[in-house]
Amino acid sequence: MTLKQRLKAKALDLGFEDAGFTTTEPLDLYVKEVESRPEMYNWVMTEDFNLKRGANLSQKHPWARSLVVLIRNYHRRRFPEQLIGKIGRCYQVDERIEKDMEHQRMVDFFDFLKNQGIRFQFDEETPARMSAARAGLVTYGKNCFIYSNNSMLGASWLESIPILLDAEIEPDEPSIEIGCPSWCKNACIAACPTGALYAPKKMNPFKCIAFNTYYGDGITPMDLREPMGTWVYGCDRCQEVCPRNQAWTHQDLPENQKLKDRAADFQLDTLLRMNEDHYVNKVWPLTFYISRKNIAKWKMNAARALGNLGDRFYVPVLVESLNDSPDEVVRGMCAWALGRLGGSQVKKTLETHLPKEKGLVAEEINLALSKMRPL
Ligand code: SF4
Ligand code: SF4
Repeated sequence: MTLKQRLKAKALDLGFEDAGFTTTEPLDLYVKEVESRPEMYNWVMTEDFNLKRGANLSQKHPWARSLVVLIRNYHRRRFPEQLIGKIGRCYQVDERIEKDMEHQRMVDFFDFLKNQGIRFQFDEETPARMSAARAGLVTYGKNCFIYSNNSMLGASWLESIPILLDAEIEPDEPSIEIGCPSWCKNACIAACPTGALYAPKKMNPFKCIAFNTYYGDGITPMDLREPMGTWVYGCDRCQEVCPRNQAWTHQDLPENQKLKDRAADFQLDTLLRMNEDHYVNKVWPLTFYISRKNIAKWKMNAARALGNLGDRFYVPVLVESLNDSPDEVVRGMCAWALGRLGGSQVKKTLETHLPKEKGLVAEEINLALSKMRPL
């Protein structure tokens, strides 16, 4: 067996879905794309983290001779019903903090590289999707996600992991192209609730639900609140509707019991009411893009989602947080959510609470009152 065959065989043996190889030439198409839209991508071109720097593989890593890309299937098991439409699938099984089976797969692959005497590095700045396409493992969807060529029934529920190697390995045939069937009339673009997907393979991160659930300061912009629906961390909408994903998504997959057992920790009313201990020990280790200190962002997300859920059963928990939360973004979003749910009792509550507030929260209450529909 050649080294290339040995590496691929080991990756498959460890449970990765696929492995491919590419050179360390710059990922020019990636650089061209982000340079064409600086207003959308300058936030990932900073001194500390810079995807353009990462795309210049040979310049950043002059010792490297090739790139192996691994495909990890994050949808091996069924996701709990309670979390669908609230937390993006890939985040529900993210082991970067908790380190379980998936993490062990990586450790085992790295050990194998070490034993083969290969120098290697995983660099978070390397554009992962473009690396996988250049290694011939995936094609793009018009929703900007990548879809497996050889495994997972062609689905996009995958993570690509590029690893730089000092070994010279023959590259695979690139597949940097859109692989969507011609009969799909851009279902992903039509389904994107916020208009973040504004053209084939063009996504504005600042309008994307996923981005807005974990990044960005302050209260969610008004025009995004309703379209964000019940998502509190990530968004899978443009992958859920995609015909390329249906065969994989609708199989009878085994249950993820561990995740099912944790689902109650992420219920919307639990999130809105949670204390620091619940947040730091149960929520943050799985969903860590929001800082450990920013419990208010989670509570604001939960309040927005409860408003959009449209179930007046949750009025008391929203009123409780409007009264008790020390964070104005949470109280402000509770006011908005209560306004969405409406009702004469809610109207009275908001009117009674108004004199206790000023600034942002008072503005939100006034706005909620002005928009409330009579029941
Ligand atoms: S993840 Fe959601 S908001 Fe973002 S582009 Fe896809 S459908 Fe639109
Ligand atoms: S929904 Fe249609 S256009 Fe969008 S990624 Fe899927 S196949 Fe392509």
